[in-house]
Amino acid sequence: ALHEVPDVSVPRYVRVNTLKLDVDSALLELQKNFSVQKDNLLPELLILPPGTDLHDHPLVKDGSIFMQGKASSMAAPALSPQPGWEVVGHPIDGSEVIDACAAPGNKTIHLAALMRRKGKIIACELKKERVKRLKDTIKLSGASSSDIQVLNEDFLNLNPKDPSYSKVNAILLDPSCSGSGTAASRLDHLLPSKAGGQDTDMERLNKLATFQRKALQHALLFPALERIVYSTCSISQIENEDVIKSVLPIAKSYGFELAKPFPEWQCRGLPVFEGSECLVRTDPAKHGEGFFIALFARKDAISSKCS
Ligand code: SAM
Repeated sequence: ALHEVPDVSVPRYVRVNTLKLDVDSALLELQKNFSVQKDNLLPELLILPPGTDLHDHPLVKDGSIFMQGKASSMAAPALSPQPGWEVVGHPIDGSEVIDACAAPGNKTIHLAALMRRKGKIIACELKKERVKRLKDTIKLSGASSSDIQVLNEDFLNLNPKDPSYSKVNAILLDPSCSGSGTAASRLDHLLPSKAGGQDTDMERLNKLATFQRKALQHALLFPALERIVYSTCSISQIENEDVIKSVLPIAKSYGFELAKPFPEWQCRGLPVFEGSECLVRTDPAKHGEGFFIALFARKDAISSKCS
């Protein structure tokens, strides 16, 4: 399959699952066979040479490490809802978090690791067949059902006024997107051309963006919310900056501002509205994956606002 074509230009990243193994032990183990470095942005991320094949490695098979790119590993740490949140990898102790679009669960279990069993995650997934993958990922990670509650639901149907969500103070929204930032999608041009062409692609993007906006607006309705991360693995402005720009006035009316996660990260949002420098982008050519992160935080819980 195309998505299995190894990308030889960017390093192989692995995220150490600190629910099962500490970073230094993983480093020592991997160094027996590979040249490995620690990432300078995310403490739980290790960097191996491009093209390193780890699919059958014992640490992958037992869930001690997950093959997760740097870009997608930035979403969960961006959510950290404590004061001093911009400290990368700051634990999210004691929080109640909804992962709104959770399967296959890579970010769910990353959140669980950052929360060090001191909070609760509600992992919501619409598609029944994907809930199975989500549960498998959670099982492999070693997180328990008291750490993560799985819901097979439409996030848009969760009632923010339901008392069971009254303590939810953070939401990770990583909705379905075009995937145009992923290696598989960037190899699409190698496939026989699809019927429809540009118009169809545009329709698809607009349809996705409509859902993305709706989901983001829904997330804003949870009463105890302090932070929301919105992320996609798309490079399209329509699914990224345009979604944020259109929801920002509504977010502001609920007392939220855009905040700036990873202030030292150079690659920021496209300059299409005031405050877009708060947004995080990754460049497929440089970082292996095209990814987008926006962080909304309640005004009183924010130290460096952008807009
Ligand atoms: N966050 C995941 C991870 O890191 O492993 C990837 C999430 S994937 C981009 C989006 C997921 O959202 C898909 O599994 C899709 O089935 C699910 N989804 C789409 N619409 C949804 C909805 N209305 N409510 C809940 N989940 C939804």
